This record gives sequence, C-alpha cells and structure tokens, in this order.
Amino acid sequence: MQINEQIKLTSKQPDLKTSIFSIMSALAAKEKAINLSQGFPDFPCHPKLIELMHRHMLKGNNQYAPMPGVACLRENLVQKTENLYGAKYDPESEITITSGATEALYAAITAVVQPGDEVIIFEPWYDAYIPMIEYSGGKPVTIPLVLPDFRIDWQQVKHKINTKTRAIIINSPHNPTGAVLSEKDIQNLIQIVKTTDIILISDEVYEHIIFDGFYHQSLARFPELTERSFVISSLGKTFHATGWKVGYCMAPFELMKEFRKIHQFITFSINTPAQYAYADFLKEPEHYLELPGFYQQKRDLFLNLTKESAFLPIENHGTYFQLMTYSAISDENDIEFVRRLAIEHKIAAIPTSVFYRNGQDNKIIRFCFAKKNETLEQAAEILCRI
Ligand code: PMP
Ligand code: GLN
Repeated sequence: MQINEQIKLTSKQPDLKTSIFSIMSALAAKEKAINLSQGFPDFPCHPKLIELMHRHMLKGNNQYAPMPGVACLRENLVQKTENLYGAKYDPESEITITSGATEALYAAITAVVQPGDEVIIFEPWYDAYIPMIEYSGGKPVTIPLVLPDFRIDWQQVKHKINTKTRAIIINSPHNPTGAVLSEKDIQNLIQIVKTTDIILISDEVYEHIIFDGFYHQSLARFPELTERSFVISSLGKTFHATGWKVGYCMAPFELMKEFRKIHQFITFSINTPAQYAYADFLKEPEHYLELPGFYQQKRDLFLNLTKESAFLPIENHGTYFQLMTYSAISDENDIEFVRRLAIEHKIAAIPTSVFYRNGQDNKIIRFCFAKKNETLEQAAEILCRI
C-alpha cells in the first residue's frame, strides 16, 4: 500500500537496521538451518508452568493486572532477591513487572536520560541499548571490553566519566561474550561512582546462567550500588519461556516512581495469568537454582563435541552463548561467514561485528547452546566437517 502523498515522514532512526536476531532467525527458517543464532531454548519449559498458566486462566485471572504487576509475583520476586543477594526492596513501590527485560531497559533508560546526557556502555553490547538511549536524545559512550577475556578497563571508565554522564549500563553475565563481573570489578565500580550522581542500569537477565564456580555479582548485593541502580531480569530466560515476555525491574522508590510513569504508558500492565503462574512457580527455588549445572552441562557438551572442529572457543563463564573464532577456516567477514554457514551448512549463528560501533570484525561468531542435546549433537557434527 502507498502511504498518503501528503505525509513526509522523517525517520527518528534513519540508520537503524532490523535486529540481527530477527534476521538470523528468519534466515534459519528459510534455509531450514539449525538455529543456534537468536537466544532461546528449543526444549519446552516446565510442564508445571504451563499447567499453572492454564489453571489461572480457568480460574478467571484474565483481566488487566495492576499496573506494577500482581502483588504475589512482586512479593515472591522481592523475597527471592533478598534470599539470594540481600537487598530488601519494598514490593509495593520498588519493583515493577514488565514485558520482558526489553521493556524494563526501555523504561529505565527513558525515565532518567535527558537530551544531551551521556550513557556509558561496553562494546560489544546487547543491541537494544544504543537505540533506546538515542530515542531519549542521549549519547551512548562506548568503551571496548578488552580481549581475550572481555574485561572492563576501569581506567577507561574513569577517564570517560564527566558531568554529562547520567548512567552506566552493566550486563553480567554478558551477552554476547559470556564474561562475568568479578568482585574486583564491583569494587572498582563502587570506587568510581561513589562521588558521582551516576545511575546504574544493570541488565542481569542471565543471573542464573553462570558456571565454573563463579557466582552472580548482582548489584542487589552491594548497598552502595543498589541505592543508585535499576536491577533488571527476565523470567523468560530463567524459566525457558522467552515467548511469554515477562521481566521485571527493581530500584529504590524514587527511581521506580519515574520508571512507572514510563511503564504505565508503554504497556500499562503485563499478561495476568502468566504473572500468577510465575508467582506460584517461584515457590520452588530448585527451578532456578539448578540452572548453573543444567547449562554448564550443555556448554561442556557443545565444547566437547566441537573440540575436533576448526572453530576455536573463547572462554565463557555465563549466559547460554558460546563465542568461537573461525579464523582457521575463512577470511570472510563474520556477516558473510554466518550467511554462508546458514545457507551452505545449515547452521545459523550470530556475527559479533554488529555489536561494535565501527563494525570491528574479530572473526568471532556466537552460538546459542540452550538446545536439546540432540540438536547440539547434530550441529556439532556439521561444524566438525567444516
Ligand atoms: N538483555 C539481554 C542481555 C538479553 O540477552 C536479552 C534477550 N533475552 C534481553 C535483555 C531481553 O530480555 P527479554 O526477552 O526478557 O525481553
Ligand atoms: N536476547 C536474545 C539474544 O541475544 C534475543 C532477543 C531478541 O531477539 N530480541 O539472542
């Protein structure tokens, strides 16, 4: 259909492209390739979760939920946070249930970033951050993570901070690299922000997917940081139900007050029966406490099955992503390489150059191992032949 000719549209994001996750999942479907690109499980979520959702729908929990989320879910998440990390949020006024972590990130950024404000992010980044900052007229300031293990260079962070710095976005465990923050990193962060008015936006969607004896350094563990942070997580990631799109954000009352002003006019409220189902399911902590072991086994299986291949893994300690370099196989840039991988070899992966400002091509691609063992076996067999 042609748009009415009197409308002269000025794009608010003229350079913004379709997200790589949509592009690669569409290519995987078209090519009937094994989809190790976009991050979601190919195994079902727990049958009890589905049963609970069904039960709550039959019970009549099908109308609008309260704007901040149903009370029992907020209470259970606040309790879980206190048990695991120590922070005591008020379930009435310091937590909001959102449409995935995506909405929480958008609402947090929109609530605090004013035109001209600078927001520090680390490169490579999760693809939503930059457009979200720019919609508010903010300026993303990127700091490269240092190879080979994608560490944060805290001297650089110190160097980039100035009077315009409004926020820093932290993401641990980190997508796409799998790096995790250490206690030393947190101490550096505490030192750096302590004399500033900087707000932290902490994307912790992989909080339960952490391996090798590392434990998650939630900003809800450190009162000096909790008092200036939005802490964001995703029940989709934790409970293998990314399509339900339920996430949440916790923050001190004054931050949450501004957050809710944004949330109430993006979505107003979130899917009611899903919230009740999660509230009940959260009463069984084993479902999230077993995730490190569950996903470490998958990571180790994938690494083991591909160890004879020409793909070289990069150490990861969290998330369900494994970076690998293909420089022993091809000189192609990573975008060309993943296209060919999907079309010729029927495996879809994510190129990492799209998560760099200048499209830096390290010949590194990302595989998602949140898959059935048989999917990983089939994929590894192909990768070993390349
Ligand atoms: N942040 C990161 C780092 C992610 O990988 C994702 C994708 N799950 C999100 C946020 C968005 O999470 P959700 O699917 O709950 O919106
Ligand atoms: N977080 C998922 C990933 O990194 C993708 C989510 C999305 O498609 N927006 O693959």
